Amino acid sequence: MIVKVADLSDEVRQLRFAEQPAALNAVLADTSNVAGVRFESPVEVDAEMYRHGSDVYLAGKLGSEVTAACCRCAEEFSTSVDRSFKFLLVQAAAANAEGLEDDRGLDHYDGDEIDVGPLVLEQALLALEAAPVCAPDCKGLCVGCGANLNSEDCSCS
Ligand SMILES: [Zn+2]
Ligand SMILES: [Zn+2]
Repeated sequence: MIVKVADLSDEVRQLRFAEQPAALNAVLADTSNVAGVRFESPVEVDAEMYRHGSDVYLAGKLGSEVTAACCRCAEEFSTSVDRSFKFLLVQAAAANAEGLEDDRGLDHYDGDEIDVGPLVLEQALLALEAAPVCAPDCKGLCVGCGANLNSEDCSCS
């Protein structure tokens, strides 16, 4: 989703689009800390965007269905992710001219277009839990025999 900066104004513009799961899963495959997680449905994005001078404001929420492997019992389960996000995008040239430091937590854009895709992609990945569990009371695997204690009893204890 590419947005032309010149097309933005003070008037809030609604932005609705979907990122296809294949692209996200390709990134996930390279990201070790979220192993065992994959997006099952497009990431639906519902956001608002406007421009004030050269500053661009982007805020909204995203949602998708994912499959994750439980970090306790290793069973795969489906869950949904939802996340709100907010960006203040500063034109890189303007930021340099004003001597703004990068550590102010502002994102930059170059040129006269903003690719919203990567920004949202990053948020979608952040929405994934680092240690997903299939249920809050998942009993996990027995450390002695490896039995899934959710579905079977073992004689270890
Ligand atoms: Zn589990
Ligand atoms: Zn056991």
